[in-house]
Amino acid sequence: MENNFETSAIRIQSERTQFSEHSTPLYLTSSFVFDDAEDMRASFAEEKEKNLYSRFSNPNTSEFVNKIVAMEGAESGYAFATGMSAVFSTFAALLNAGDHIVSCRSVFGSTHSLLTKFLPKWNINTSYFKINEIDQIENLIQPNTKILYAESPTNPAVDILDLELLNKIAKKHGLLLVIDNCFATPYLQNPIKFGADIVIHSATKLIDGQGRVLGGVAVGKEELIREIYLFSRNTGPAMSPFNAWVLSKSLETLAVRVDKHCENALKVAEFLESHSNVNLVKYPFLKSHPQYKIAKKQMKLGGNIVAFEIKGGLDAGRKFLDTIKMCSLSANLGDTRTIITHPASTTHNKLSSEDRLETGITDGLVRVSVGLEHIEDIINDLKQALKY
Ligand SMILES: *Cc1c(COP(=O)(O)O)cnc(C)c1O
Repeated sequence: MENNFETSAIRIQSERTQFSEHSTPLYLTSSFVFDDAEDMRASFAEEKEKNLYSRFSNPNTSEFVNKIVAMEGAESGYAFATGMSAVFSTFAALLNAGDHIVSCRSVFGSTHSLLTKFLPKWNINTSYFKINEIDQIENLIQPNTKILYAESPTNPAVDILDLELLNKIAKKHGLLLVIDNCFATPYLQNPIKFGADIVIHSATKLIDGQGRVLGGVAVGKEELIREIYLFSRNTGPAMSPFNAWVLSKSLETLAVRVDKHCENALKVAEFLESHSNVNLVKYPFLKSHPQYKIAKKQMKLGGNIVAFEIKGGLDAGRKFLDTIKMCSLSANLGDTRTIITHPASTTHNKLSSEDRLETGITDGLVRVSVGLEHIEDIINDLKQALKY
């Protein structure tokens, strides 16, 4: 019998040692020993499953990966040092020079840089569709297109893409569907259920959830992960055993943490929606969200990110940040601490106003990563900063 989500997150464990420890210990070892020549030969020939070297695998990283595989309903996976190394290694392993990607324009900043500045070095180019132009995707597909790439919900505007529809298009044209599921976590959304071939996470965000370590993971079909694994074990973007140990513990509480994050975020969204200095609030589980129905179809809850448009544009956005007392001004998200960013003056300040608008970033857009502090304290801080 397969366990439920919360049980897998807690009960999947690496084998106990002779010390009968209850909680998985930290395996800080770069390599592993063999019993004899035959054991060594068979291990290298992959005739037996055995850890050889921690760039390939390690009990801590395996435990972490096995949990994510179970939580996402995948066949296999590999853990990376960061979310970006998971994104890069997936492209590098699955594409050849001359291949083409179709991607949503609203993707994480570094992913956008990878697609526009670095992959073209190997003659791998990308065509973009806007969030409300899913019907244009088929016009962008070329004979050499291999991957359809998207995030949902998107960063920072919290737009939702219809995963079922993306999968239909991908399957019709023989493309691999690769989904960055970071904002949803494996708890809120499982893209594989909707047909995704590879699911990527930055474990740095809600999976750690406490702002401590970086990490990434890619899970999906066995034969694709095998390619990603072979690329990675030779190029070296592996997750450290220490980070895997931290992240595997974090997964034990993912469901309860994310439940509370979502409860707080919905309350923040409802508060903002009723405020006179706020123009527009975007939260997937608010009825006013343009893709509310799709969000309800594919997500368990709305996530912890709320985006809103402050009246008064760039200046009002900056002033709001300066008046915030408790919430942190920081680049991370998915922390226990509520974090506020103003993309137009920070993460996306290098883009022209026009390019920003294309990804849904207006000058007054504020992104709140709602944390786990008491909801009254979060709302009170926002309330006093909105009085201007
Ligand atoms: C943060 C993030 C990444 C990159 O992850 P790192 O762990 O910082 O490398 C990728 N995708 C999304 C959606 C993210 O939010």
